[in-house]
Amino acid sequence: MRVVLGSIWHESNTFSPTKTDLKCFKENQLLFDNDILDYHRGRKNTEIGGILEVAENKHIEIIPTVSASAIPSGPVTTAAFKFLEQNLLERIQKAKQQIDGVLLVLHGAMVTEDLDDPEGYLLHRIREIVGSSIPIGVTLDHHANVSRQMVENADFLIGYRTHPHVDQSEVGQQAAKVMSFLIENEVKPVMRMRKLPALFPGESSPKPRAKLVQRIEELERREEILSASFFIGYSLADIKEVGPCAIVVTRKDKQLAEFEADRFAQLMWKLRNEFALETVSIDEGIEQALGTSGGPILFVDTGDCFWAGGGGDVPFFLQSFLKKGVKNAVIAVIVDLEAVNKCIRTGVGKRLTVTVGGKLDQVNAKPITVTGTARVISNGKYWGKDFQFTEKEIDMGPAIVLDVNGIGVVIVSKRTSIHDPAMLRSLNIEPKDKKIIVLKDGLLNLVTYKSIAKETIFFNSPGFANWDYCKRSYQKILRPIFPLDPLSLSFSNRAN
Ligand SMILES: [Zn+2]
Repeated sequence: MRVVLGSIWHESNTFSPTKTDLKCFKENQLLFDNDILDYHRGRKNTEIGGILEVAENKHIEIIPTVSASAIPSGPVTTAAFKFLEQNLLERIQKAKQQIDGVLLVLHGAMVTEDLDDPEGYLLHRIREIVGSSIPIGVTLDHHANVSRQMVENADFLIGYRTHPHVDQSEVGQQAAKVMSFLIENEVKPVMRMRKLPALFPGESSPKPRAKLVQRIEELERREEILSASFFIGYSLADIKEVGPCAIVVTRKDKQLAEFEADRFAQLMWKLRNEFALETVSIDEGIEQALGTSGGPILFVDTGDCFWAGGGGDVPFFLQSFLKKGVKNAVIAVIVDLEAVNKCIRTGVGKRLTVTVGGKLDQVNAKPITVTGTARVISNGKYWGKDFQFTEKEIDMGPAIVLDVNGIGVVIVSKRTSIHDPAMLRSLNIEPKDKKIIVLKDGLLNLVTYKSIAKETIFFNSPGFANWDYCKRSYQKILRPIFPLDPLSLSFSNRAN
């Protein structure tokens, strides 16, 4: 049994003007052919790692092609997408005579300069190459905006069940198992999707998830059902097919797939008011933190979170802390190469005045001028210690810690992973000694800072990833839509 494997992974925030070019992929992950196997084999935290594990056990020969992923940002440039597309399709074309299946690891919320549904387009092109009898299976991020074109051109789509996402390997394993079942038994499955007319917050509350995961487990216990998934969608994409959906894949029963996808989506719709994450204003947050003994209290700066397409340089918390006289706090991080360079030129221990932030996100932020002392200068490299980055060296580019009135401002050169407490420790900051730590993050800190944070407070702060949809000027989404419009109609009025 031979299966061709490829991955192009990006979450594109159409409200961010920062385009994602090939350099962004190169900086995060851009691998070809056998390098993909070398990198992912044995990894417990990637879809490809999970696929390879099952492939080995089931004696499936994997033909690797392309594995590309970049940190969420604005749309992918046409040039970068064409390069990746060409490399993927050429390899699939070359392998097509000898393969029994295609497995792809996609995000599902990529947008390019030209295409609102590049994943649907890619699947369509691959279907043209391999024909209708070769099964195509896809894993998707929980934030996928699944399109009709994706459903029509794949045999099955399977998504993460967790948020924060920690089940990438399990999802890869499941996809490989379903693929091997389809090939062995020559089954042509049936997939049905039901989309909800809704925008859910990217950083959603864990509360409704348990009920939805329970539904998946109930469904997948039935022999006829191969997989069931739900997606909360990515609302920071102004595209027609935005939004959450439920998907059910059966061996051959169309009616069952339709009925259960519909019932699953009804359950999501019923829970629609529960997805909003509890947030507080900056004043409330500071008051709450200062009124709590000990620390650290984690302030999650979700509006400027890189992993949801934020610029990473909105100095909102720094400004607020200086105004309120907050001490013993760390801001992790502000991305500002110019400020880093100026601090490096001045040197450790010398006072300087420097302008910080507001360069990548010029919409939601204004630069702030501060006077402080660089305490640490680093090459910005550290070894990830938590589950997601195990045995991976993270490179933030040259980084500094600037002390401004008792606030440690971590300024880095590049947008990269900062969820791991090892990042602060690499800069001689012990997170446990701090009263407040500001992280530009979504929900991942709930895992990475679990044993450290005394309390976690979420802020719907200014930035490209802020989910106050009323403030956004959507042009392409279909209306009416929850929560922007009064919606008395049942979601099934727009079923597809
Ligand atoms: Zn996601």
